[in-house]
Amino acid sequence: MTEREPRVIIIGAGVAGITTAHVLRERGFTDITVLEKGSDVGGVWYWNHYPGLRCDVPSQIYQFGFAPKADWRHAWASGPAIQRYHREVVERLGLTELIRLDTEVVEARWDERSRWTVTTAAGGVLGADFVICATGVLHHPFIPDIPGLADFTGPVVHTARWDDGLDTDGRRIAVIGTGSTGVQVVSALQPHAASVDHYVRSAQWILWAPMSLRQLPGVATVLARFPNLHRRLHRVMAFGGSAVLTDVTTRPSWRRRAVQAYARACLRIQVRDKDLRAKLQPDYQPLCKRQVISGSYYRAIGADNAALITDGIAEVTADGIRTADGAYRDADVIVLATGFHAHNYMRPLRLHGRDGISIDDAWAKGPRAYRMTAIPGFPNLFTVLGPNSPTGSISLQYTAELTATYIAQWLAKFRAGELSSVEVTDQATTRFNDDVATAMGPTVWNTGCNSWYLTEGGAVDLWPFDRATMKAMLSSPDPADFHLG
Ligand code: NAP
Repeated sequence: MTEREPRVIIIGAGVAGITTAHVLRERGFTDITVLEKGSDVGGVWYWNHYPGLRCDVPSQIYQFGFAPKADWRHAWASGPAIQRYHREVVERLGLTELIRLDTEVVEARWDERSRWTVTTAAGGVLGADFVICATGVLHHPFIPDIPGLADFTGPVVHTARWDDGLDTDGRRIAVIGTGSTGVQVVSALQPHAASVDHYVRSAQWILWAPMSLRQLPGVATVLARFPNLHRRLHRVMAFGGSAVLTDVTTRPSWRRRAVQAYARACLRIQVRDKDLRAKLQPDYQPLCKRQVISGSYYRAIGADNAALITDGIAEVTADGIRTADGAYRDADVIVLATGFHAHNYMRPLRLHGRDGISIDDAWAKGPRAYRMTAIPGFPNLFTVLGPNSPTGSISLQYTAELTATYIAQWLAKFRAGELSSVEVTDQATTRFNDDVATAMGPTVWNTGCNSWYLTEGGAVDLWPFDRATMKAMLSSPDPADFHLG
């Protein structure tokens, strides 16, 4: 076979897409097109701009290893600051020219001869040798099916599609949902609202952290002055954070119990009102759901204009919400902090692989991939931050970079003429998923709570291994696990 340049289409320009474009370009690939349905890069950080949005991972960790930023204003950056960072990184690394914004992919179809044919919502058709789905996880808002919701006469807004023109000051606001988002939005809206009613179906453990803290003075100057030190520091913090989180989440130990004791102490110390505390007390172990971190929620929900409502919602009326106990509360605005369809990945994109198999059929029992990145039946297609990669413990930026570097090795084999097609075997995928299921046993995510980590089939869609295992699994392709054509 002769040497040829692979035509690569990356779908999505969020954390995963930006990382993949950069990694491939660094390895000399030149025919890369990134298709992004949003009007800007950033993925979740583009789509989410609700009041109070802040990343609960420290800014000096939540960044690309290849583009560290010294001058974060806050120790935990705000959503808009992170979105600006993504735009700046894309511009600084010269990736802008690769990215087509406002371009939604609606179909991708594999054909043995013509390879991938990718169709956009506007009717554009592109050919590619490889498709890389960097389509994100928390992407498709979940709108609950609550009786009467469509009849509410005021604004109903999902946090992931916030209306920046919505005036919430002085209004009676009903917030439904208490994940990381609900907790942040309640904390932000409460000080200026006439009232905030927080509708909570399952209570959350909330770890206290000083989330509005400024980055320490002088840090930016020192890090900017010594970029190598900055890179090294970022690695140490990101790897150290991953090691601690992996340790406490994946196996029971006194260290897990210490973090859980801290969560219980946060509730006990910060909420003095016994009735309120009882309603805020979850009935499952801390860390079982995606851990919520906040420095302000307990204060906000204890304020005179705030109410915690734990009775189930019976119906929404034209002007308010009635709960199962018969109580009725007026509302001017309903905020849905109800999360996402977390296991859609690239869907509803119509993805068809070998012999026309659709991704919906392939994933009828839930998302399933080999080492987060390859799917049987879908040759020359990879995912970055695909199934099992909402890791729950390891840096997403690191995971994305490792996966993209792994994919680049397959592309290099194509470029060198060593293969034309590559498809993971079903056996290797089953083996990997069996190992994942076994390793999930002792994890805290498996201790009896309901969370977005669980697929409809009840599997935990996270990474149960440590960072070293991830690195080993993605260090170099194992041809025995693939059909090569
Ligand atoms: P989420 O964690 O899935 O929470 C959704 C909430 O909506 C839950 O409290 C859920 O209750 C509730 N809910 C859903 N349907 C309901 C219904 N019909 N009636 C009443 N309540 C209902 O979603 P999220 O808060 O948007 O967070 C998702 C993830 O995004 C987080 O876990 C985190 O990974 C990420 N995130 C991160 C940050 C950050 O700072 N880094 C900020 C925001 C979000 P149940 O628990 O009873 O199902």
